[in-house]
Amino acid sequence: MVLGKSLERWRREFPLLEELIATEEVFWLNPLYRRFNDAITEIPLSLKDVEDAEERLDKFAPYIAKVFPETKESKGIIESPIVSVSNLKKQMEDMLNQPLICKDLLLKCDSHLPISGSIKARGGIYEVLKHAEDLALKAGLLAGDEDYSIFAEDNFRDFFSGYSIAVGSTGNLGLSIGIMSAKLGFKVTVHMSADAKTWKKDLLRSKGVRVIEYPSDYSKAVEEGRKQAAKDPKGYFVDDENSVNLFLGYAVAALRLKDQLKDLNISVDENHPLFVYLPCGVGGGPGGVAFGLKLIFKDHVHCFFAEPTHSPCMLLGCMTGEHDQVCVQDFGIDNITEADGLAVGRASGFVGKMMANLLSGIYTVQDKTLFKMLKAMADTEGIFIEPSALAGVPGVYNLLSSKVGEQYLMAQGLRDQIQNSSHIIWATGGNMVPESEMKSYYQKAEYYQ
Ligand SMILES: *Cc1c(COP(=O)(O)O)cnc(C)c1O
Repeated sequence: MVLGKSLERWRREFPLLEELIATEEVFWLNPLYRRFNDAITEIPLSLKDVEDAEERLDKFAPYIAKVFPETKESKGIIESPIVSVSNLKKQMEDMLNQPLICKDLLLKCDSHLPISGSIKARGGIYEVLKHAEDLALKAGLLAGDEDYSIFAEDNFRDFFSGYSIAVGSTGNLGLSIGIMSAKLGFKVTVHMSADAKTWKKDLLRSKGVRVIEYPSDYSKAVEEGRKQAAKDPKGYFVDDENSVNLFLGYAVAALRLKDQLKDLNISVDENHPLFVYLPCGVGGGPGGVAFGLKLIFKDHVHCFFAEPTHSPCMLLGCMTGEHDQVCVQDFGIDNITEADGLAVGRASGFVGKMMANLLSGIYTVQDKTLFKMLKAMADTEGIFIEPSALAGVPGVYNLLSSKVGEQYLMAQGLRDQIQNSSHIIWATGGNMVPESEMKSYYQKAEYYQ
């Protein structure tokens, strides 16, 4: 029984559950997808909130440039390149033995974001900066109109050392929160799930971060972290499952992407649809980015999430409409995957509800496919990213060469425009993976060929 209903009844109500439970690759179209102007009326956040987050990041840029020299060139703006991956496209066409008809295939390299090498360098760092600003304003240490490089001064570090920050993570969020909090001077604790890689824990410890390990999955690490942080009156818990600030930090990506596409002369309009494929764990990263993109490109952008076949928590939550009231384990799915950034059994209810009418669909990917794509990306483009970060790749052929994809294009009236379409694979992490680790990923990929 799940939520008072037998498995039999769940399966009857949602026939796709059969394949989900069998951990087969599926492609689900969201029946609640609506026109942007209708959907947005029910959402409490707006473009103004995202612009406010962008302004705050701009204010902090002089500080970031000062304390993270790798961001000097970008003047303290934490942003990633977007590149064409036409060789990968060719390789996919060879694998499928059929053409993928579209105008551009692009890779958004959040895998190469400075400071923490993953998409978490957006939301995670933003949330810590926002919290630091709030504390400093409240204490009268800051008026708000200064050059924020003063955050690097000793009196700020001394002040923050009286406060603590905690987070639960499968790895990458811990890296972002840990590195940023430690740099500001906070006492910081990262609660890591069993999936978290040893090198991530070691790296954090080397920066003075307290790392607590749990033998169980992400949800448990978050729960424990939340419990312990609640006991500390000067403690702040970064709540990956419910945080609006985290979400807004991610959403800023869309404002920046708009300019990047303009620079590439890529239009997004009625005749030039944009498709974006985002790897999804708890949902904050892909949700925030997709939300920002919908605010900007409205009905001309189509966002799809990607999840491991063994961790389809967002699909389960959105399809049943039960969001965080169900988890994959309820349906006998084990949440065991090599895609550690996506190893989440219960999705964020906040994100699921925000995206309920804005998300076009969700598909699942086997670990084997992730490794195949890891090798294809490395061989054709020379880009090495972590397994989680490749979940976006199959979205392209799911949309352009499957029956379900065809069904989506027909329903949206996009058949004639597809030749003018652009597709963005969102690469979410990998730049900080040690070389030996990356080598073993690549070897695993060869084994799967
Ligand atoms: C965290 C993460 C994601 C997904 O982000 P969520 O906010 O958990 O949905 C995707 N890829 C990588 C590499 C990540 O670390």
